[in-house]
Amino acid sequence: MSLLDELLTRIERQGPLSLADYMALCLTHPRYGYYMSGDPFGAPRAEGGDFVTAPEISQMFGELIGLWCADTWQRLGSPDPCLLVELGPGRGSLMADALRAARALPGFSEALQVHLVEVSPALRRRQKEALTGHRVTWIDSLAELPDGPLLLIANEFFDALPVRQFEQTAGGWAERVVVADGEGGLAMALAPPSPLNAALIPPGLRGAAGGSLVELCPQGLNLAAYLGERLAQQGGAALIVDYGPAASTAGATLQALRRHRRADVLADPGSADLTAHVDFESLAEAAAAKGAAAFGPVEQGVFLEALGLDARAAALAATAPAKAREIEAARHRLAAPGQMGSLFKALALAAPALGTPAGFPDAGAGRA
Ligand code: SAH
Repeated sequence: MSLLDELLTRIERQGPLSLADYMALCLTHPRYGYYMSGDPFGAPRAEGGDFVTAPEISQMFGELIGLWCADTWQRLGSPDPCLLVELGPGRGSLMADALRAARALPGFSEALQVHLVEVSPALRRRQKEALTGHRVTWIDSLAELPDGPLLLIANEFFDALPVRQFEQTAGGWAERVVVADGEGGLAMALAPPSPLNAALIPPGLRGAAGGSLVELCPQGLNLAAYLGERLAQQGGAALIVDYGPAASTAGATLQALRRHRRADVLADPGSADLTAHVDFESLAEAAAAKGAAAFGPVEQGVFLEALGLDARAAALAATAPAKAREIEAARHRLAAPGQMGSLFKALALAAPALGTPAGFPDAGAGRA
């Protein structure tokens, strides 16, 4: 058996799969899911990975986020206990770097109750190693969290959540689905248009020209709404860092990545990373509708520089002169506009009483 066989059987019995169901099975199927057994991170040659994320480029990324958490905790009135939650922690590098940096603020580390939301048993093991010496609880979903003030971080998590795609046709919005191609493989097809689909499309895109594609991430929107309500009621803030446009935009962005190269989304399911651009505007709106304030998104380069990236890079280079070149290359990669600096963005969701979190333009520019 392979995931392809399983998907073909499922399609034969239950009909076409929505792209979101397809994506969810490819990434998180208990046996064949892309994240479930392997470690996809790393440089293509040195480590055989499929992609590299910011925390794997440099410790500076997690350290600055740790300082952001410490600063936010102080703004919250230094609650003890305070939940620190990460969604999709990968190798655990970001959390390890953040917790190390957080020790600079007296009382903060001691107040933290760290929870990691991770679907993959293999990556949970990896995180356990990275976080030796820390008290950490793994959970499957935010519903398992105890009540109380919350600091939440998510780097390159929302881009892995399943998306649906709709196409504007003469008969209305039609959903793109996955079917059998009749030759043992998979193909994309259009389900009949339904008037119910239009309500799902962001209002600004509903009138898009014929042939336009619109992508939606229902799970991402649900999460943002959950966070919006929880932060407004119980206090705290969430920092979402990912890639995508600042405003909702038409277009299909779902892509497969294998060994740092684009691959066919439908070929060899379960063997490649599948990601889609994050719609920051819709996430901010979903959280704001439940009472939270939203700030940004700001470009990752701008955000990290506001948090002190250049000073941190200079301090690291001063203590390790032999690594100065490497540190400068990492700083450039994280912050330069042509690198990760502008495609990647940071969005903060917060309890309205918190005010503007560090790294975001001051009041008025926020969406609050
Ligand atoms: N934040 C890390 C890893 C990003 S990759 C980094 O920046 O390096 C996405 C992570 O989310 C992986 O750890 C993956 O296993 C996890 N993940 C993906 N979908 C998930 C889901 N539905 N529930 C919980 N974790 C998920």
